Amino acid sequence: MTSSVDLTRADKGILIVLSGPSGVGKGTVCKALRECSPDLVYSVSATTRNPREGELDGVNYFFKTKDQFQQLIEQDQMLEWAEYVGNYYGTPRKFVEDTLNSGKDIILEIEVQGALKVKQKFPHGVFIFLLPPSLTELENRIVGRGTDSEETIRSRMSVAVDEIAMMEQYDYAIVNDQVDLACTRIRSILTAEHCRKDRMVNKIQHWMAEVKK
Ligand code: 5GP
Repeated sequence: MTSSVDLTRADKGILIVLSGPSGVGKGTVCKALRECSPDLVYSVSATTRNPREGELDGVNYFFKTKDQFQQLIEQDQMLEWAEYVGNYYGTPRKFVEDTLNSGKDIILEIEVQGALKVKQKFPHGVFIFLLPPSLTELENRIVGRGTDSEETIRSRMSVAVDEIAMMEQYDYAIVNDQVDLACTRIRSILTAEHCRKDRMVNKIQHWMAEVKK
């Protein structure tokens, strides 16, 4: 079922979904985007995984128990959710809808299964896939992060290959060779999306009506 927020209207925000394999640098790119695009709103996800060092509840994630997470699903408070490497991750629905209704753009940094669910609800969202320069570089980044066990690294790499295969479901693909370049590319995409004819048609419709009065 599609959402009640009509994303082809110029007075609504644009919903951007950023996916890419674990370790590709989505978090770093989002952090840099936050600095250079202060008007862009970030959706904070809920998860059942444990906080990593330095992560704060309500900032990086809303950290939940499995029971709490299940309740959020039952209360229809999740726009989407998915299981990823043994934990649940999901996007709180109301915050996304309220932000779009207020005319602000929002970015969701989520994995592929969740992104596809969002696409069903928001077919006019903008779906961007972040690629590593190479698979070897991806593995180096995951290992270098030093937060995952060997078993988790293996499973993240295996999920990564499956995720990259889903790239064709996305509208854009960006190589994260340099964070500032990746940011510039995403901002360029947003600029172009704001100029989409469909959004403008809605905006100028009342001009025609005024002139013909
Ligand atoms: P991490 O444990 O490294 O923070 O995240 C693991 C994966 O879960 C990443 O690919 C991240 O993009 C994804 N993820 C984070 N939040 C959400 C969410 O709300 N929904 C879904 N489907 N995936 C998420």
